[in-house]
Amino acid sequence: MVKIEVEIEGCIGCGACVNACPVSLFKIVDGKAKIVGNTDTCVLCRACESTCPVGIIKITE
Ligand code: SF4
Ligand code: SF4
Repeated sequence: MVKIEVEIEGCIGCGACVNACPVSLFKIVDGKAKIVGNTDTCVLCRACESTCPVGIIKITE
C-alpha cells in the first residue's frame, strides 16, 4: 500500500509534480498540489519526491 504525503502548507504550486508523475496522480487546485485518482496506480518511481523543489512530497510503502 503506497502512501503519498504532501505537506501542503509548503507547496508553491510550481506543478513540477504534475509533470513528473507518469500516472498523473497530481493536479494543481487553487495553487496547491492535490492528489487525484487512485494512489494504487503509483509505480513508486519517486519522481515526484525528487522533483519537488521544496521537498514536501514523501512516498512511503
Ligand atoms: S512515486 Fe512516481 S508514480 Fe508515484 S506519485 Fe510519485 S511520480 Fe507518481
Ligand atoms: S512539486 Fe512540490 S511545490 Fe511544486 S506543486 Fe508539487 S508539491 Fe507543490
